[in-house]
Amino acid sequence: MEYHDTVERSTELLRKALPLMSRQAAALHPVSYAVWYAYVADVNSPLHKALDAHLAEHGVLDETATEALFRRHLADPDADTATQVTDGVARLLDGMQASAAAAGDQTARYGDTLQRLSAALGPADSAPGGSPPLDEALAHTLQMQAALARLQKELAESQREIDSLRDEVRRARQESLVDALTTLANRRAFDRRLVTCLAADAAVIGRPPVGAPVCLLMIDIDHFKRVNDSYGHAFGDQVLRAVAQVLKALTPEGGLAARVGGEEFALLLPGMPLAPARALAEKLRATVAASRIRRKGGDADEHITVSLGVAQFLQRNPALGLSVDEAPADFFDRADRALYAAKQAGRDRVVVAD
Ligand code: GH3
Ligand code: MG
Ligand code: MG
Repeated sequence: MEYHDTVERSTELLRKALPLMSRQAAALHPVSYAVWYAYVADVNSPLHKALDAHLAEHGVLDETATEALFRRHLADPDADTATQVTDGVARLLDGMQASAAAAGDQTARYGDTLQRLSAALGPADSAPGGSPPLDEALAHTLQMQAALARLQKELAESQREIDSLRDEVRRARQESLVDALTTLANRRAFDRRLVTCLAADAAVIGRPPVGAPVCLLMIDIDHFKRVNDSYGHAFGDQVLRAVAQVLKALTPEGGLAARVGGEEFALLLPGMPLAPARALAEKLRATVAASRIRRKGGDADEHITVSLGVAQFLQRNPALGLSVDEAPADFFDRADRALYAAKQAGRDRVVVAD
């Protein structure tokens, strides 16, 4: 996402976006603004259509929906959209300040001219009441100078606000939902999705005691510390990106791949039963083990392996003595323990949780 609009065009978009944006349930933060800016800028974009569909169904846009639209349609991991928006607003303010300063200078010069003219016309003419039109012009000019001085002061104030907003955006980016190194979802995004996915599953009205299955894969690179120690952190990062690529390529529709720790990944598989989830884990393991990673300056390609834990979400099932659904954190821990068992058993393997 890049912004190339002129000051005039962006001001027009700002005017259109603000009223629409302020009607929603989401706060007026840069993420909201980026969504509404894009909405008013292009009436035929996929974002415009998705937003219209959401409004038709739900009436308003809340935080979650705003963030989802932002993530889906605007978040480009290579470009910090929110920073670009605030940078754009800062540039706009800069422009306005420069215009106000120029207008202030002109008015001051005009005032000086009037004063000199008044003096040249002599005491009788320049005395108050002596030359009413000139007096009036002088008074107006002074008023305008005062108004411009106020405007400049207010603009300087806005500039300070936008500066602190830019700092906030920088902080928010660090807490955003995308892992910068691999561009997979980060831990925060994963935790959210895990909770909503399990809650949605439980909320299916009239669902039988056992609803749609949900599986979880935990994936950890084997002896990764050794990779870093032998070849350096930069190559370690390259390995992380390579594993993320494999994960992305094998993630089925509706699944969520995330980097949940330094060299730990998770794959959430809503709707997938245990047997295909286990098969997918095995395919992931085999694909990583078979791939070779080229190291700059190295004499041979490196190969790495991963260990995996697989678990299926335990749903309420009175027949099996389960009166409630498993807690999301317990589900995560079970998959993680299966992963630990895979490490204990020798690595480069898949273990299914009981
Ligand atoms: P195991 O097979 O038991 O998982 O051993 P391991 O060496 O992979 O596990 P350990 O937890 O001992 O070490 C993980 C290492 O991952 C240590 C840490 O320096 C490294 N690491 C964590 N985050 C990053 C990162 O972003 N980039 C790089 N290059 N290394 C990272
Ligand atoms: Mg490891
Ligand atoms: Mg680890």
